[in-house]
Amino acid sequence: MTSTWVDGYGRAIDYVRMSVTDRCDFRCIYCMSENMTFLPRQQILTLEELLRCAQLFVANGVTKIRLTGGEPLVRKGIVGLCESISALPGLRELVMTTNGSQLTRFAKPLAEAGVKRLNISLDTLCPERFREMTRVGELQRVLDGIEAAREAGFESVKINAVVINGRNEDEILRLTDFVVSRGLDITFIEEMPLGHVGRSREQSLFSSDQVRDLLAQEYRLLPSSDNTGGPARYVHLQDHPHTRVGFISPHSNNFCSTCNRVRLTAEGKLLLCLGNEHDLDMRALLRRYPLDNQPVLEAVRAALQYKPERHDFSADGEVQILRFMNASGG
Ligand code: SAM
Ligand code: SF4
Repeated sequence: MTSTWVDGYGRAIDYVRMSVTDRCDFRCIYCMSENMTFLPRQQILTLEELLRCAQLFVANGVTKIRLTGGEPLVRKGIVGLCESISALPGLRELVMTTNGSQLTRFAKPLAEAGVKRLNISLDTLCPERFREMTRVGELQRVLDGIEAAREAGFESVKINAVVINGRNEDEILRLTDFVVSRGLDITFIEEMPLGHVGRSREQSLFSSDQVRDLLAQEYRLLPSSDNTGGPARYVHLQDHPHTRVGFISPHSNNFCSTCNRVRLTAEGKLLLCLGNEHDLDMRALLRRYPLDNQPVLEAVRAALQYKPERHDFSADGEVQILRFMNASGG
């Protein structure tokens, strides 16, 4: 029988973000340091362990799973994993966040494997700046990947843009024009201070309210109560019914009271909150009890009681969480 997980504050947990790898073909300046060391392979959950976790989650009321990373498309066997997870009875939707660099190859197979929606990261439309922000990436590959995703038949394709003061805030209107002309959604994200990335983040906050003010110069923004089951708040654009603009505002609008999610890191740590170091070592439990889910389930249920009431990123952008975003399952 399906039971639903509820945390210590009465919030039902029905959404899990699973990081399938901490590796990536990019090195984005807000996500990683320049010289990242990645986990040895044996510390990463196997595909079988990832599927076992997904089965456990869905059997206990989780209806939405997002595969992320690192870059999920660098994990070997990702399409087969998607196929197995999307077939789990009770799962409402399997979705993915990707940097888009390999979508010309993967978009169609992912759609056929049951991935319903894609979030693709794109912070700039300027090739040189794209190279600077990702340190190694090539803009055209991602633009081609976005086109491939549009043609592959997903229910929706959304662009994610992290806005960093002094880096790309001058492209907010251009990025919005880009999605409007293609009928895509976009979400603007405030940078979170996860891990030491080799620069101060104090000056880098560009708040969602500032983004909204800039957008209002060109577009008429209409309030919306849309909810896609994540932390974003949305507005519609008058005369552009196919585009929604979302805002993820960990600094300026705390969304913790409605938090319905937990994260599983690539090494199998169940993170109860992105802005907090509490976790449960699921990998140890899965390996200690290879044939018995009961002790794992009991540990998860107990751990959920420690999910904190709210995150608290300090206003000065000071790093309190040492984990990098790629290791957290962003
Ligand atoms: N590699 C994939 C990608 O870039 O879309 C998936 C993983 S990435 C960690 C997931 C999302 O987190 C991306 O949209 C990325 O822009 C965002 N992100 C990474 N570091 C962040 C930070 N410090 N603050 C806010 N968002 C961040
Ligand atoms: Fe890789 Fe995504 Fe992090 Fe960029 S944000 S370094 S693409 S994991």
